[in-house]
Amino acid sequence: MNQYLSTPIEYLKGVGPQKASLLKSELGVHTFEDLLFHFPFRYVDRSQVHKVSEASSLNGFGQFRGQIVSIMESGVGRNKRLTAKFQDDSGMIDLVWFKGINWVKNSLKPYVEIQVYGKPTRYKNKWNIAHPEMSAAVNHNGPDFRPVYSSTEKLTSRGLNSRGIAVLIRNLLEDFRDPVEDFFEAPFRSHYDLMPLKDALITAHIPTSLHVAEQAMFRLKFEELFFLQMELLVRKKISFQKSKGHVMKEVGDHFNTFYKRHIPFDLTGAQKKVLREIRHDMQTGHHMNRLLQGDVGSGKTLVALLTTLLGLDNGFQAAIMAPTEILANQHFDSISEMLDGMNIQVELLTGSTGKKHRIEIDQGLQDGSIHILIGTHALLEPHVQFKNLGVVVIDEQHRFGVAQRATMRKKNTIPPHILVMTATPIPRTLAMTFYGDLDVSVIDELPPGRKPITTIHRRNASRLRVFGFLKEEIAKGRQVYIVYPLIHESETMDFNNLMDGFEAIQRAFPRPDYNVSIVHGQMKAADKDFEMDRFVRNETQIMVATTVIEVGVNVPNASVMVIESAERFGLSQLHQLRGRVGRGAEQSYCVLMTGDKLSKETIKRMETMVRTNDGFEIAEVDLQLRGPGDLIGTQQSGMLNLKVADIAKDNHLVVLARNAAKKMLEKDPALEHPMNAGVKKQLNRMLGARPNWGDIA
Ligand code: ADP
Ligand code: MG
Repeated sequence: MNQYLSTPIEYLKGVGPQKASLLKSELGVHTFEDLLFHFPFRYVDRSQVHKVSEASSLNGFGQFRGQIVSIMESGVGRNKRLTAKFQDDSGMIDLVWFKGINWVKNSLKPYVEIQVYGKPTRYKNKWNIAHPEMSAAVNHNGPDFRPVYSSTEKLTSRGLNSRGIAVLIRNLLEDFRDPVEDFFEAPFRSHYDLMPLKDALITAHIPTSLHVAEQAMFRLKFEELFFLQMELLVRKKISFQKSKGHVMKEVGDHFNTFYKRHIPFDLTGAQKKVLREIRHDMQTGHHMNRLLQGDVGSGKTLVALLTTLLGLDNGFQAAIMAPTEILANQHFDSISEMLDGMNIQVELLTGSTGKKHRIEIDQGLQDGSIHILIGTHALLEPHVQFKNLGVVVIDEQHRFGVAQRATMRKKNTIPPHILVMTATPIPRTLAMTFYGDLDVSVIDELPPGRKPITTIHRRNASRLRVFGFLKEEIAKGRQVYIVYPLIHESETMDFNNLMDGFEAIQRAFPRPDYNVSIVHGQMKAADKDFEMDRFVRNETQIMVATTVIEVGVNVPNASVMVIESAERFGLSQLHQLRGRVGRGAEQSYCVLMTGDKLSKETIKRMETMVRTNDGFEIAEVDLQLRGPGDLIGTQQSGMLNLKVADIAKDNHLVVLARNAAKKMLEKDPALEHPMNAGVKKQLNRMLGARPNWGDIA
């Protein structure tokens, strides 16, 4: 940035070696610039004072003015705590500390007018404020906005709480005289309502009003998101230029015969639209890298199959990879059936494929006699080599990582076209960012005639009534899933719960009137298949299972999904499980069973499930509740380490920044215009090795 800002942090007034090393280890602050980019996460108006008697109705942070009237230490070891009684003219509230007790105790000044800032919470019928911020009381004329910075216990114990950090930043800003290079020129700034960078940096820390503070943060967030999107767009363009792909222009016998004779229904408009997008990709000579998002039951399998047939028509082989054996088996069965009589050789390869058969498969893949290979992770093995692999479909791609996509890509010298599919919709803003390197297609329409699933939430106390309902449905000829949480298949307690549940269900649904199946991860694959098959053939009416049946399983006659301990599942998983029903013409139901005491977040999850069947809407709520890291798996969320912006909360800003970046590249693909020089310079820095902008244009 500039010289002043790159100064090591130990040179800042008020920072000695000890504080410097703490700032580094606790906050990752090494330079002036790092500290300057430690922005407040909130502002408080110091002139706004609440009464202690209002604590219970505040619902968040509050600021109080009064005196400490007594101090008491209690407990030992880990239970040690410090309690100070704080009083104003409306009442009394406890201030409590669990950590840094000695330091706090020495700094408390009883009977002096002070100001206290914190979040009142209720504990054992009493209101208290844990680890409040305290400062001397001052009289204000008019509002007085102060930044609130995040800090840590260690920093706080060295005097670097929010206020201590604010002092350091003020010291920094006092000598901040050099200009700061602004990446955006004035016309661009005024178009998007952006403050100059230096103003924004200062205003964010020392605002004169809440409004300007928000404007400053807007500028900073916009900039961060703009460059993130710019980087993604440029990287995608570069890889698109580089990526040679097989040209598949032919729409031949396989595709046409299947399309005309083997599909018993019309494709939905959305399926047709997506197929057009895929066909377009495969003809261009570039390598297809496409994500197909479609809610459960939207008919992605058929799109996948038609895509592989396009590959076959052009003389290539195809592979379909699924995350579980059950799902791979099911794809194999349904696809073999659909292709019956078409002279296409389909094989199944999973972890349970016998050695002899595996060798035959390897042989068939290499001599080209096998046309479509369906399987699990087993497909990734190095011995799986094709004569001429042209199309790879990865189902339920969120169960796989980027590395696995890359492994499949390397199974031919010119990489095969890749279609990844997911029924866990990702909110648009997140997809824009996280899947920046993929093109995204969406099936946003369900096949006709589907009745929306009715979802209800029931407490454990209503279990008997729920069982009664299941009996009614079974009497109508329907089948039922009952799913137990077994997050880690090895957890003994979960496993015991499952087995207890299984026994209870067998008692409530006795033979010979009822037959109950069970499937879980610790069973042998052959046993799982056996039980699955019985259920598919309607020989058993109830399937007790763990989440192994979460993805893909398709039994149209099953119309009730009961989810036990539903509070233990995330939203997307609940939605995914619910998607196992509602596949036939009958009215389907999902029953969410929970305990009585539920957290606010759980209630929100249950309400969302009851309210809507729309996977995208559910994904948005999930994003708000859990944040982007949890949603897409932490191993893949590295690029979401943003300093200022928050992909979940700053939703609209992501879209704004994305569009601004797109627009700039459309008008000036190689960023040659002098107006865009600042942006180009910054991008070159971000992209490391200088991209060949000529290629991009
Ligand atoms: P998912 O997108 O969850 O993978 P599937 O591909 O398993 O969904 O499709 C769900 C069901 O819908 C299957 O039984 C399939 O045969 C059926 N289906 C797919 N497309 C259509 C369509 N256009 N019209 C009617 N039924 C369809
Ligand atoms: Mg599927």
